[in-house]
Amino acid sequence: MIEVEHVKKSFGDLSVLKDISMRVPRGGVVSLIGPSGSGKSTLLRCLNLLTIPSEGTIRIGTHEMRFDKAHKMPKDRDLAAFRSKVGMVFQNFNLFPHMSVVRNVMEGPVTVLGRGKEETRDLALQLLDKVGLREKADAYPDRLSGGQKQRVAIARALAMKPEVMLFDEATSALDPELVGEVLQVVRQLASEGMTMVLVTHEIAFARDVADTCVFMRDGFVVEEGPARQVIEDPQQAATKAFLSHFH
Ligand code: ATP
Ligand code: MG
Repeated sequence: MIEVEHVKKSFGDLSVLKDISMRVPRGGVVSLIGPSGSGKSTLLRCLNLLTIPSEGTIRIGTHEMRFDKAHKMPKDRDLAAFRSKVGMVFQNFNLFPHMSVVRNVMEGPVTVLGRGKEETRDLALQLLDKVGLREKADAYPDRLSGGQKQRVAIARALAMKPEVMLFDEATSALDPELVGEVLQVVRQLASEGMTMVLVTHEIAFARDVADTCVFMRDGFVVEEGPARQVIEDPQQAATKAFLSHFH
């Protein structure tokens, strides 16, 4: 479960998130769409506290973080505990190039959670199997296609046993023929009940995999509702204008 209440974020004088509230129930999938610069990545980064909100409350499961002008920065230990609940997959994979695929997947549990290497290796191999890359366990990232790298990145995020998963344009850097294999893994996670937020320009995917679609513009949520309805029959002029680019 993800709850965002009245989150605001400014960078200096630039107000990027103006008052965002949203809720993703356990097992829910939300697609987050909107024009470039509307604040989608900033909101996702606030959800795992890569970016610290200026104000508001973020809840992931039973973990809660509140921010206001009087609150000090959270302690590193609290940040690390919170972040370990939130898996994130970025556009550009960010795999460790000097580590084999299986080591990449093991890295979080071993270094952040202090888990034993043997048990973690077993978990990593299971996760690689899940994303269809068991046979690449000992390969290095530079030998993988973009779609394969992204599936390793997903396995690596899952190795932390997150309560929620966030995807920020996870297929935008891929050649078109590699998009499907990554979306298939996301679709599988959705069917297994993973709570997720998907920032995506794949509008058909945003409609078909998500339960709810949120349209953001200029730091606000402009429209939110059942994904199929928002995408096929948007109510707000701004949503209509944005979606007209995809037809
Ligand atoms: P895109 O679709 O292009 O990825 P987005 O909706 O993800 O766009 P954000 O990356 O969240 O948009 O950026 C929203 C605004 O915040 C932009 O004007 C951006 O320049 C600004 N911004 C983001 N991060 C920072 C930062 N660290 N410092 C200053 N400004 C920032
Ligand atoms: Mg972005």
